[in-house]
Parts: sequence; structure tokens; C-alpha cells
Amino acid sequence: MPQRPAATDRICPNCDGFPSVAVTLGGRDRAGHLRTITAHCPACHGTGTAPLWLVTTRVSTAGR
Ligand SMILES: [Zn+2]
Repeated sequence: MPQRPAATDRICPNCDGFPSVAVTLGGRDRAGHLRTITAHCPACHGTGTAPLWLVTTRVSTAGR
């Protein structure tokens, strides 16, 4: 599990700092455990942080 981003890191705008989530597949295994897969944010690859250029760069296409 990734560590929480430090205050100085930039939070990934795509996942808002929650880069990894467990997705249930439905059903349970023989032990009764919920079957899940772990999905990582494709933008930050599960780190929860983003490079500064990605956070600060805003593509403005509207209003012109
Ligand atoms: Zn992300």
C-alpha cells in the first residue's frame, strides 16, 4: 500500500490522492474472503502524487 503523500507532494488530480482501490469481483473464495482486485490510478501509477507540471498545467479550451 502506498504511503500517504507528504504535504510537499502534489496530489494527483485524477485520483485526488487515492491511487489504489480494491474492486470486488463478486462472490467469495473457499475461505469466505471477498474476491477483489487492486486497481491503480493510470495517471499516477498508484503513487497518489503527480509531477508539478501536471498539476499546474491547465488546458484551457473553453471561453475563447
Ligand atoms: Zn492518480
